[in-house]
Amino acid sequence: MAVAPTLSYSSYRTYLECPLRWKYLYVERRPETPRGYFTFGRVVHAVLEELVRPLVVPSARRREGTESQTTLHDWTDPTRAAVASGAAEPIGPEALLASYDRLWSSDGYTSPDEEARYRSLGRELLLKYREELARHPPSPVSVEEHLETRWDGLPVHGYVDRIDRTPAGGLEVVDYKTSRDLSGEDAESSDQLSLYQVLVEHTYRAPVERLTLLHLRSLTPLRTLPRTARTLEPLHQRMGEVADGIREQAFEPTPGRHCQRCDFRAICPEFRAIPEADAPRLAALVDRFDALRADERRLERELAQTAAELHRAAEEMGLHRVEGSRSVAVRHREVAWQYPLEAVGPMLGGSSGTAPPASAEEVRRLLRDPAVPAELRRRIAETGSRRVRWYWELEDADAPSRR
Ligand code: SF4
Repeated sequence: MAVAPTLSYSSYRTYLECPLRWKYLYVERRPETPRGYFTFGRVVHAVLEELVRPLVVPSARRREGTESQTTLHDWTDPTRAAVASGAAEPIGPEALLASYDRLWSSDGYTSPDEEARYRSLGRELLLKYREELARHPPSPVSVEEHLETRWDGLPVHGYVDRIDRTPAGGLEVVDYKTSRDLSGEDAESSDQLSLYQVLVEHTYRAPVERLTLLHLRSLTPLRTLPRTARTLEPLHQRMGEVADGIREQAFEPTPGRHCQRCDFRAICPEFRAIPEADAPRLAALVDRFDALRADERRLERELAQTAAELHRAAEEMGLHRVEGSRSVAVRHREVAWQYPLEAVGPMLGGSSGTAPPASAEEVRRLLRDPAVPAELRRRIAETGSRRVRWYWELEDADAPSRR
């Protein structure tokens, strides 16, 4: 049985998406075709590292043998006197552009035009961000730091773009994003930020107070509160399952939309070439399947329209059975009571000792329960609303009528 490697966020994501792709990348070490937007992100990150590094004042860590000062005032390195006195600045605009030119890479762009567009975008956003940093200098305690830990037995690691000291003395995890669109929800649901929080909490003494995705195109920090132990648990569980899969060498291909940007289609068993002799037969089956699906959708629409038309006529004429030439359509009524669960839960409060209901069926059970006070049952019943659904069924024209 193989030993599971230390998981990074991207390795975990890759395995979740497709274990076989993970194997091609992390076991067989097959190279991927460079892509312009990845190159762009990498270069911008490297320049930002040079931009912010002059401001870094390392902070107390949990591990032995590393930096140990806890506040700016404890920082006594004379070469960092400017930082300690708060007079340090990020590198100037000329130095920034020189760094950008030095680090620029043309890898992966599909055309000179595309490369020029990205290059100009990078120049613009870096200069703007430098101005922002000069106006409101952060207090970083590290940039592009590699952190590694065992998270309840699970080996994990990652490079954290930046860790800032907050005004209250805690830490803020900052992850730069060069992508086009980003929202507050992305920060709230980001597993990457969750993992970085774990790495930082296991490494530094100060608590993590904020998690931030920094959207560089709009210079918007999308901040969220740190995760709790309870909200981190599902990620730990999923990462543990990924580690188990790798340990068991479970590398099944898992095709999906992501295959469109996978470089390994030529060797992937899911994309095996079809033998020439079988190709026409299989293509005909796909066409037939496609046509049947279209028929299915059309029939579903027609069925719903016909039932609605029959229903209207039956309502107007007060009918419940309508005879056709081969069968009889019989109209049925189904009544269901609905309860707003979000309103019923608080009505029970903590005093009744009854757990909030999770479904309408559970509410109905409460309404029948003599242990629930009658007044409370009456109030719950009043929140209910009655829903009536009509539907048609066919009977044989020759079958005896149940009228
Ligand atoms: S082509 Fe799809 S199924 Fe095959 S390895 Fe790539 S992602 Fe996995």
